[in-house]
Amino acid sequence: MVAKATQGWADHAQRVLSESGHRSGGARRALLELLDAQTCALSAIEIEDVLRARKRRVARASVYRILDELEGLGLVHKVEVGQGMARYEPLRDGDGHHHHLVCDSCGLVMPFTDPQLERAIQRLSARVPIDVSEHEIVLRGACGECRD
Ligand SMILES: [Zn+2]
Ligand SMILES: [Zn+2]
Repeated sequence: MVAKATQGWADHAQRVLSESGHRSGGARRALLELLDAQTCALSAIEIEDVLRARKRRVARASVYRILDELEGLGLVHKVEVGQGMARYEPLRDGDGHHHHLVCDSCGLVMPFTDPQLERAIQRLSARVPIDVSEHEIVLRGACGECRD
């Protein structure tokens, strides 16, 4: 079940990329599968490190370029973590939908979910003058390590 859902996003992203005229290649596929297997967001540097550990060397510039393409196509969500740094995760509905706590000092990102928050957003969405298709919530501050 989980494996099936996991297969889903990478294939979907691959299809959207090729339909929009992007070349498909081993590096891009490896990056899609890596992102798909994550429960939360990764930085470009982490992505580069994991791919290298898997003997799949991808230049950092290529990692950034692919992430930009994915973001431009609405396939990934970019979480800004301060100082121009960002983390990326697959944008998918339903299972796995979550929000983020971000430490402004060290860039730590923690996922969180809250059913009450989701219900409140649904109620609010019905009252606002746009047709709401997605939302993102980021709570920023200092993590336990950086607080004192
Ligand atoms: Zn996340
Ligand atoms: Zn911190």
